[in-house]
Amino acid sequence: TTFSDLGLLPELCTACTQLGFKQPSEIQRECIPFALEGRDIIGLAQTGSGKTAAFALPILHALWQDPQGLFAVVLAPTRELAYQIADQFTALGSGIGVRVATIVGGMDTMAQQVALAKKPHIVVATPGRLQDHLENTKGFSLRNLKYLVMDEADRLLDLDFGPVIDKILKVIPREGRRTYLFSATMTTKVAKLQRASLRDPVKLEV
Ligand code: AMP
Repeated sequence: TTFSDLGLLPELCTACTQLGFKQPSEIQRECIPFALEGRDIIGLAQTGSGKTAAFALPILHALWQDPQGLFAVVLAPTRELAYQIADQFTALGSGIGVRVATIVGGMDTMAQQVALAKKPHIVVATPGRLQDHLENTKGFSLRNLKYLVMDEADRLLDLDFGPVIDKILKVIPREGRRTYLFSATMTTKVAKLQRASLRDPVKLEV
């Protein structure tokens, strides 16, 4: 199987080649076709499996078809992971001119407001700081969001981001939103978040 067999745009397949991805990993082969069909997805996958590209590639594919507004938000448990995810979106989307902003705690809020004012397509965020901006940054909203990704959901919940994630979920219209939840493990808390946020999801495990 090649990236092109999965139905991805040529621009994205080229980016994969440039990054040295010779063929899709298992999670990518499983996830991308369902994602391109518009399904919600729960993916049980470890770091190193290629899970980031498994959700980034179909989001970028959909962005290219209908680029409008803030398109996707990815929630990550830590600053380091958020930067890694943002780097992959930027690299994979280089051929389609994607704009990515990283909105994490412990970094300058004003600089983040400037970044949000530049109208990114993709925001990668830690939940607390995203919520701060939703409350305090004029003109920033998730009303037209098309994709929400919760990455490393087990860690997000272990770090007690559950209540703030619930708040964030409430301000994204359920209609028209696709939701992906990735986790290394399926815990009681992850199952509860899954039920609260995903609609008829495909469950994938590698
Ligand atoms: P992740 O599991 O998303 O943290 O990805 C782990 C590493 O694998 C990252 O450095 C990716 O750049 C790399 N990677 C992702 N997909 C592929 C692929 N299909 N072939 C080779 N490397 C990949």
